Amino acid sequence: ESAARRALVAELIRDVPDFPKPGVVFKDITPLLASAQGFRAAVTELVATAPERIDVVVGMEARGFVFAAPVALELGAGFVPVRKPGKLPGEVISHSFELEYGFETLTMHRDAIRPGARVLVVDDVLATGGTVGATAALLKEMGAELVHVSVVMELGFLGGHARLAELGIDNCTALV
Ligand code: AMP
Repeated sequence: ESAARRALVAELIRDVPDFPKPGVVFKDITPLLASAQGFRAAVTELVATAPERIDVVVGMEARGFVFAAPVALELGAGFVPVRKPGKLPGEVISHSFELEYGFETLTMHRDAIRPGARVLVVDDVLATGGTVGATAALLKEMGAELVHVSVVMELGFLGGHARLAELGIDNCTALV
């Protein structure tokens, strides 16, 4: 059942200390993806967190894509990518946010989502909340409704939940 599936997901995420730089514990989802049972469990649980009537699932480059796409298929929703600058061929909207060192910019096709569409955002890891926050800003600019944020894993000590709450996003859940 649900608790067993989430325990399996937790078990299959590997901690890699000091990657990509000293002091960071990287949450490596590749063992989870490599396990047919584990990957299925993650997607099943993400789908279970989704509210009713989702029109579009938005996933963030690159690991967010891996989870968001199968969730979209299961929900009978479309999939829309959020990408780094210079990757999308059409007209884009952009949002920049501050990282620990420097800035990051995320983009979406301006016409990807119709105003009023009900959107579920899916990513692998919620850390500081910067990525989800920027995605929320892009959705707002498009007039889309951010209904829920579902992540596989949340790093609670980085305060992502609090940061999202400050932005008015209080509908975020993590599997583990
Ligand atoms: P943030 O914007 O700080 O919430 O970071 C979230 C994004 O960075 C996600 O798309 C994650 O894939 C990635 N990320 C941040 N920290 C980690 C970590 N410790 N392990 C794995 N991925 C991470």
